[in-house]
Amino acid sequence: MNAIGVDLGGTNIKAALVSEEGKFLRKKNVKTEVASGKEKIAAKIVAIVEELAEEDRSVSVGIGSPGSIDRKNGLVRFSPNLPDWLDFPLARLVSERSGREVFIENDAKAAALGEKWFGEARGCESFVVLTLGTGVGGGAVTNGQLLIGGGGIGGELGHMCVDPSGPLCGCGSHGCLECYASSSGMRKLVEEYRMRYPNSLIFREQSGGQFEAVAVFSAYQKGDPLAEIIYGKFVFAMGVAIGSLVNIFNPEKIILSGGISSSASLYLEKVKKVANEHTILSMMNSFEIVQSSLKENAAIYGAASIVFDRKQPHTSEVQ
Ligand SMILES: [Zn+2]
Repeated sequence: MNAIGVDLGGTNIKAALVSEEGKFLRKKNVKTEVASGKEKIAAKIVAIVEELAEEDRSVSVGIGSPGSIDRKNGLVRFSPNLPDWLDFPLARLVSERSGREVFIENDAKAAALGEKWFGEARGCESFVVLTLGTGVGGGAVTNGQLLIGGGGIGGELGHMCVDPSGPLCGCGSHGCLECYASSSGMRKLVEEYRMRYPNSLIFREQSGGQFEAVAVFSAYQKGDPLAEIIYGKFVFAMGVAIGSLVNIFNPEKIILSGGISSSASLYLEKVKKVANEHTILSMMNSFEIVQSSLKENAAIYGAASIVFDRKQPHTSEVQ
């Protein structure tokens, strides 16, 4: 079986026809052009699907979208990257116009399915994925099943509170994991300290004035004092969050993906040490923290995996 995975982002729509063995048979990348409106974007996705599937009518489609997704009714309920998309029936529209089965899932949850089918979680029954990018997303899989909650939008792991007196988060709460472990959160932290550390390497290494989390990690390696503060907050927040995730889910693996995971060799051991300080004794060292191996294709693999997962659901008994 082949499936089309569509990674719908605020900037690009990336898609591929993916085989069950994980081969990319055809690939397509176009600009999203959010300002052109949701109807045009839906039409664009239909055109991409037809181009990738060619005449093969058996191919179904998985769409990974940022935001709150109503997977049952195929709606994008709300998405910070796609303004005005309130309860937009994207999956239904694409399905009606292409005459194909179309499934939609939150992109971070899709990333978790991608790890299950093609990545670090192959053969793994219980694991957690954290996507560390502009925000922090996540997906928890227990006994082979993706956790989705009663309303279908559970598993917002990035908004786990690690410090109630911490900074205000975009979600309205304070001290969420996302405030410390995403590029948007790190950018705000760095700005808070700008007056005290005006000469920090973090500011000098920003390309075109644009903040990138990778600048924090490279400045940390050079002993930059501000980078050490931000790095320390990152490690602590990640450790506390993962400690809680381990206590709750008892996962075999915690898989890190997204842009910030590319610096994983600089923090994995330290994060694991803090995590172990926050797990109950019997779970200490019961888990691994690893970097995703799917890299830049993780989102497309994730989107295609929505199809594989729905069509060939995991059958193991819940223990
Ligand atoms: Zn939050």
